Amino acid sequence: MINKILALIALSFLISGCTQLTNIPPGATSPGDSSSTAVGGQDTPLADTDSSESPRQVIAVGVTEETGSDLSTIILDSDIPPSTGEDSAVDLSGMPGNTAAEDLQIAQLEAQQRSVLALCREIGNKLGSVTVDDCLAQSLVFGGAYTVQSRPIAVRDFLPESSDEDKPKILIMGGIHGDEYSSISIMFKWMEQLENSKNRDFHWRFAPSVNPDGLLDGQAVRQNANGVDLNRNFPSDDWLDLAQEYWANTTSRNPRRYPGSHPASEPEVQWVVEQINSYKPDVIVSVHAPYHLLDYDGPPEPPERIGELHLHLLGVYPGSLGNYAGLNLGIPVVTMELPSAGIMPADEQITKMWKDLLDWLYEHHES
Ligand SMILES: [Zn+2]
Repeated sequence: MINKILALIALSFLISGCTQLTNIPPGATSPGDSSSTAVGGQDTPLADTDSSESPRQVIAVGVTEETGSDLSTIILDSDIPPSTGEDSAVDLSGMPGNTAAEDLQIAQLEAQQRSVLALCREIGNKLGSVTVDDCLAQSLVFGGAYTVQSRPIAVRDFLPESSDEDKPKILIMGGIHGDEYSSISIMFKWMEQLENSKNRDFHWRFAPSVNPDGLLDGQAVRQNANGVDLNRNFPSDDWLDLAQEYWANTTSRNPRRYPGSHPASEPEVQWVVEQINSYKPDVIVSVHAPYHLLDYDGPPEPPERIGELHLHLLGVYPGSLGNYAGLNLGIPVVTMELPSAGIMPADEQITKMWKDLLDWLYEHHES
């Protein structure tokens, strides 16, 4: 009986707007445990910290098409036995009365759920500052797309306290470059802070690891699994004229800067572009490392500093997110370059950066 109810809940959710479901990718349910090869600092790998308990079980997830702003999650606290990882999915398919199409949709939701749980296991086993439980505690959901290696791009939304739809929307992303561990770890710290905060005046969408293949496929690398520098693959106006020429002549074909064969060729970049088009963020925050500065593209006034990061405009590169979203689309893009890729900032700095970012948002973007 309970399974039937769950199936109906999931299906009513599907019908009401969960429209960005993609097909189950080959192998998506189990990207596999990568060997830990990270080096240095707090983000050196831990021993396997696999947990036997999952705080909550995400049953069905999705993004509404109309606004892209409501990630709906059906969460059970007690109806299913505690377990974790790929094994914890509840089989809702094959219920009496389900149509084949309903069974297929349920199977897709289950595969998405399993892929996010598997991602948390990999992230928790890779990063020294984020445990499997830390990742699971955030109840990340499938963000609507898979990477080259069929890992999910996982997200969490924090809705504003009031239901005012005019509250500014912030898209905050880490790990566009897979070997910048701290840019991913700090996302989890800020999600914890936001969860414990009473200041819910913005709609936040966190994507802590936009390039999980780069982080998790063996030794972490900057690029995605196709060898593309995602931050040179955005479809900026100058991409066709300049991106490959810049790569050939200015970087001497440095593989770490390869912009791809054509603009937005990569699924991870396509996902970010889709977020910009559907979620329509008022501000984008992109976290990198290790240049120890603050960069900014687009209107209006940039923050002078965020924590210990001081404004230092780097200019734009063909195919960069700042070029595409900031200059071409006019969306403020705050790029935070943490001081080290492998060592997390001190806790007080993590808190200070969050506070300074909020202060700047209140000053410039509160509606
Ligand atoms: Zn970077």
